[in-house]
Amino acid sequence: MKIVMKMRKVLLTSTLFLASLGALAQTQVIAHRGYWKTNGSAQNSIAALIKADSVGCYGSEFDVWLAADGQLVVNHDPSFQSHSMEKTTSTVLTTLKLDNGERLPTLAKYLQVAQPLKTRLILELKGHSTPERETKAIEEIIALVKKFGLEDRMEYITFSLHATKEFVRLAPAGTPVFNLDGKLTPRELKEMGCAGPDYHYSVFRKNPEWLKECRELGLKTNAWTVNDTKDMQWLIDNNIDFITTNEPVVLQGILSK
Ligand code: MG
Repeated sequence: MKIVMKMRKVLLTSTLFLASLGALAQTQVIAHRGYWKTNGSAQNSIAALIKADSVGCYGSEFDVWLAADGQLVVNHDPSFQSHSMEKTTSTVLTTLKLDNGERLPTLAKYLQVAQPLKTRLILELKGHSTPERETKAIEEIIALVKKFGLEDRMEYITFSLHATKEFVRLAPAGTPVFNLDGKLTPRELKEMGCAGPDYHYSVFRKNPEWLKECRELGLKTNAWTVNDTKDMQWLIDNNIDFITTNEPVVLQGILSK
């Protein structure tokens, strides 16, 4: 009897230990638009990518547009310093300066710098004016990624339903593709061939059962853009796989406790 009780205690202790390890190891940090809230950095800059890597982020997120000349550029908004991303050539766009003095980068430059780094590349394709332009952008992205031999480090994210389906269709099998829009259920994402939801954290707050359902379906879960420590903690406690944040170092601090 005594031995049985002792064994049960050992089992319980080791289960709790493994569970705590699992919870800590599971959540990974993704720097939103790179690690930009630090000296010498700016959103979607090359510096932000390098800094996200240097602090050991699992991934560094960035936004991509197809410029008027068919070249891919990295920037967030549909227009930057009064220049429409879709209607301006990359030649002009790359003369524009970011807040840290860097020039707005092409995707080619971004991938070239990423090559020797370790961080995963979380590429967001912004919603373009037509589905045809989104397909063209995705074809170009996949060709460029192949050229740099970075297929294994890519994850694709987008709000656009069309682009989500096109990434699933055109990216090499097994490449994670996440939808950002917050409307599709875990089962719908699974049926589309997505890796899972990458949703605003309020969507998971409203549908907390989705986190469990995704695990059961073999989907991964990512929440954006989580900057408040209480929200980070809630997501960690609910075993989210990835948190996308403007405060990667703060999140790393919470995870290392
Ligand atoms: Mg983005």
